[in-house]
Amino acid sequence: PAEDGWVRHEFAKTRPIQSYLVALAVGPYEERIAADIPATALRAEPIPLRGFAAIGKRDKLAESLDITDEMLLWQESYFDYPYPYGKLDLIAAPEFAYGAMENAGAIIYREAALLMDEQTSLARRRGVLTTHAHELGHQWFGNLVTPKWWNDIWLNEAFATWISYKTMHAVDPDGEWNLSPILAGLSAMGSDSLVAARQIRNPINANGDILDAFDAITYRKGGSVLNMFETYLGEEDFRAGIRLHMKRFEDGVADADDFMQSIADGSGQPEIVSSFTSYISQPGIPSLDVAVSCPAPDAGLITITQKRYAPLGSDIDPDAQVWEIPFAARINGPTGDRTIRQMLKDRVTEIPLDGGCADWVMPNADGTGYWRFDTGSDNLNALIDAYDSLSDGEQILFADALESGFRAGRISIEDLKRGIEATTSGHPRAVSEATGVIPTLNRLLDESGQENLRAWVQATYGPLAEYLESRPATALSQQEVLLRDKIYSLLLEYGDRPEDRSALLDRAQRYIGANGIPDQSALPPEDLGIAMKIGAEDGGPAFYDAATAYLPSVTNQTERRTLLAALANRGDESMVEDLFAESLKGSYSADEVFAVVSSALSNDSAKDRAWEIFMAEFDAIVARMPEIRKPQLAGMTGYVCSVQKSSDIAAFFETKSALIPGYERSLAQGVERAQLCSALKTQKALDVKNAFQ
Ligand SMILES: [Zn+2]
Repeated sequence: PAEDGWVRHEFAKTRPIQSYLVALAVGPYEERIAADIPATALRAEPIPLRGFAAIGKRDKLAESLDITDEMLLWQESYFDYPYPYGKLDLIAAPEFAYGAMENAGAIIYREAALLMDEQTSLARRRGVLTTHAHELGHQWFGNLVTPKWWNDIWLNEAFATWISYKTMHAVDPDGEWNLSPILAGLSAMGSDSLVAARQIRNPINANGDILDAFDAITYRKGGSVLNMFETYLGEEDFRAGIRLHMKRFEDGVADADDFMQSIADGSGQPEIVSSFTSYISQPGIPSLDVAVSCPAPDAGLITITQKRYAPLGSDIDPDAQVWEIPFAARINGPTGDRTIRQMLKDRVTEIPLDGGCADWVMPNADGTGYWRFDTGSDNLNALIDAYDSLSDGEQILFADALESGFRAGRISIEDLKRGIEATTSGHPRAVSEATGVIPTLNRLLDESGQENLRAWVQATYGPLAEYLESRPATALSQQEVLLRDKIYSLLLEYGDRPEDRSALLDRAQRYIGANGIPDQSALPPEDLGIAMKIGAEDGGPAFYDAATAYLPSVTNQTERRTLLAALANRGDESMVEDLFAESLKGSYSADEVFAVVSSALSNDSAKDRAWEIFMAEFDAIVARMPEIRKPQLAGMTGYVCSVQKSSDIAAFFETKSALIPGYERSLAQGVERAQLCSALKTQKALDVKNAFQ
């Protein structure tokens, strides 16, 4: 019995868990009790399921709770191992700098990563569900089997990322989640193109190294590499390895070597170990020079040379590394269409093609390999002509090859344009991927060149936009909806749609109540970001004042952040000054201060002023940010496109090193990004100018 005024809580004993997985959530939460997750042949007892949210937000837990049983049951059967922790609580914490934390049976999410309502866009919804599937996956991989030391925390995160997509693919068959690991890999390649890239598995010698390990390389490159090996081994053999791993190490610790041994034993394919090791113990992206030739009429030949991908201006030595690559290519020729697979162990490999020469070779079959390719103008143009015959994943990889080839100085601006135009007839994600280079082209041009770029963007994407916008949303796939929203924004920013711009400004003003009461029905959630950007650019001080007056009434984290980021990224100097002042006064949460600062420092029209204020008020600003974001500030050096400016900024950060512990890699990467940006400008601006005159 407790003393007067005290309440005694007793907790059931948990299975053995790592110390970092212990959690206690305290606060004035509202509870939402969901139906128990039913017993199954694998598990005799049902699992009680509850959600917790800040007062007034309980109803927004419904969707995440509803889909939990489906996800969890699928994962149980994948692992062939019952959910280990007896009960499951999902907790939406109002302030939480991480996306979520997978504590055993008591997962904590930042609000925006768990709560959903009718104001949640499709893109955000997909993000929430992926995070949820990721945290559930950790209950086995990370919790039931846990790393020996922090140097293998990458494997937790890579695996959870990978299984989140697989889980989503199972519970949402229309979502095309099979493409997600491919896209994840591509999204890690920006940082993996740097000299200062981390390798996936890194030694951990100091506390700062632990934080450093939670980056795109760990999550996305790691997840993509696992996907590549699953493809190589086959789904069932890979799963046999995972199941074996769970049984071998349940309630215990395992490192990456143990994991690879489990996969080798379970799949019966031990050759995978050295290949896997070559990927996790070296930084960078394998770049394959793929030469397609025809030495005799009935005998084709592919010659593959391994290099490390290096963009223009990079200090990377392209010949310093070799990987063991589970290569797969699609070959099309007179004898038909086929996929060849071979482990590439040497710098140069020749693969003879029986039965004739190839019409085209797609050097990354289905797009599942973590490598880039460079294939010469003839095969590239053959691929452009055959674009519609490529699979979805191949089209996405092809789109990446265009931009990465251009940035490496291997693809001309003319081929880039022609390639981008070809992508518009393909899969929505490939279209979307190919648009990624447009802001870069815009920055390389002067005003008259930008006008011509606008005309080209409008001509290239206008018809597609009209098609997508003319169809009812119910007739579009998820990927088409996402593309529709993306192209809509693209045309407003880089195309030629002045009437749409002013119509959107009008809706943005109604939304924030610039001339009356705020009207949420004026904007669907997917248009919020672009609408606020247009408002900040075109709406003048009146829009800014109305937006900042509206902000205190907003309790939705995603909406607040979107609004603040748009104002900081597109506002003029006086708006940026005001946002910094409000940040320092404590008007925003720690996460929001970080969003304001990073958006302002990359604001194309007010960047110089933003950096001035940032440096002048550095100590006070940093004090208002989440601990885990502080070292990342140094990476923002990459927002300037000048070697001189970036070295001045770097010198400034060095003087502040005590306030941003663990900043070293971020700073090195930021300086390098500035160097690459500057080199691209020096070497390509003239070509781009000539192509758009
Ligand atoms: Zn995780």
